[in-house]
Amino acid sequence: MRIGTPLGPAPTRVLLLGSGELGKEVAIAFQRLGVEVVAVDRYPHAPAHQVAHRWHAIDMTDPVTLATLIEQEAPDLVIPEIEAIATGALLEIEAAGTRVVPTARAAKLTMDREGIRRLAAEELGLPTSPYVFADSLDEVRDAVARVGLPCVLKPVMSSSGKGQSVLQSADDADAAWEYARTGARVSNPRVIVEGFVEFDYEITQLTVRHAGGTAFCEPIGHRQEHGDYVESWQPQPMSDAASAAAQDVSARVTEALGGWGLFGVELFVRGDEVLFSEVSPRPHDTGLVTLATQRLSEFELHARAVLGLPVDTALRSPGASAVVYGGKEMDHPAYEGVAEALAVEGADLRLFGKPSATERRRMGVAVAHADDVDTARERATRAAGHVRPVPQS
Ligand code: AMP
Repeated sequence: MRIGTPLGPAPTRVLLLGSGELGKEVAIAFQRLGVEVVAVDRYPHAPAHQVAHRWHAIDMTDPVTLATLIEQEAPDLVIPEIEAIATGALLEIEAAGTRVVPTARAAKLTMDREGIRRLAAEELGLPTSPYVFADSLDEVRDAVARVGLPCVLKPVMSSSGKGQSVLQSADDADAAWEYARTGARVSNPRVIVEGFVEFDYEITQLTVRHAGGTAFCEPIGHRQEHGDYVESWQPQPMSDAASAAAQDVSARVTEALGGWGLFGVELFVRGDEVLFSEVSPRPHDTGLVTLATQRLSEFELHARAVLGLPVDTALRSPGASAVVYGGKEMDHPAYEGVAEALAVEGADLRLFGKPSATERRRMGVAVAHADDVDTARERATRAAGHVRPVPQS
């Protein structure tokens, strides 16, 4: 393993497909190792664009545009950071000899909820909620009857709670289907109807597949609102049996996806029972907490793993993260309350530098460490609460 000088005749070059806040931290992790970073997103001045050697704004769902850019940049590694990518083009690029992280197949299987759910439940036999896929309102009504109530309806092509609703009665089917149509990336979406899991808590099990094997981070607990993460903490206390089951499920699903890199495995825990929910073959938003808690953040672990370098998943301190939202629509917001946030003991802040805000858009995150998780959660939430995006005057 050798790393070439960036911008020289033989750099080690990575192409990040997706330049959001997670991609930005991945870019910084590669920059620290002297790797040349090219960041791609659909719009200019995305967070990772701002810390890359070069950047591009293209439609990554268009296979020809994507393949042309990859040919032009000739990266050593193509690193998908989002789901909405022309994964067929990635399969071809990989077959032609360029490494895709962790594998092109993993990117394809996790680009929608169906591929990964069928792999986990039907091929690997992992425990999940009951589920049925549907393409129309009639099929949704039928699916609700088969899965039972309450249940959750989500577009298969969506994330962060977009288009997702919980159904308490069969009468909710119409509204849930309509909401899925507005939240999905396509007009007539395929949806998954899942049985609602009355979990005790949910975790993200960060799992690293690296040159020396598979390593696990301490479990991350999190709280979601409207299907989107608002707060996370590490470590989440678990029984020995649940912890062993979480690692077993995570090892099996990540092995099936293959390749090297960090994965975020989302699991529901009920007593000692662990149900698989979904997996990201890349750093996970709830894992932002590792910026405060681990010797190597999830972003550094991802960079090291994909380069074939040694990893260390040790926890340094309990900690927590809390999200800063836009609050309302505005372009180029300014941030007030930063000094107050950073005056909170043990707290740190990441402002993503996104060029525009909406009410629920994630604009930053506060992270905090402390001697225990409860104190860390209080600190992170208080720090995030101080930060106010306001219109630029
Ligand atoms: P997802 O986009 O699938 O990760 O869902 C976002 C969040 O919605 C999860 O983290 C859970 O808090 C909640 N959720 C999703 N599916 C279910 C389910 N089948 N039962 C209970 N809660 C769910």
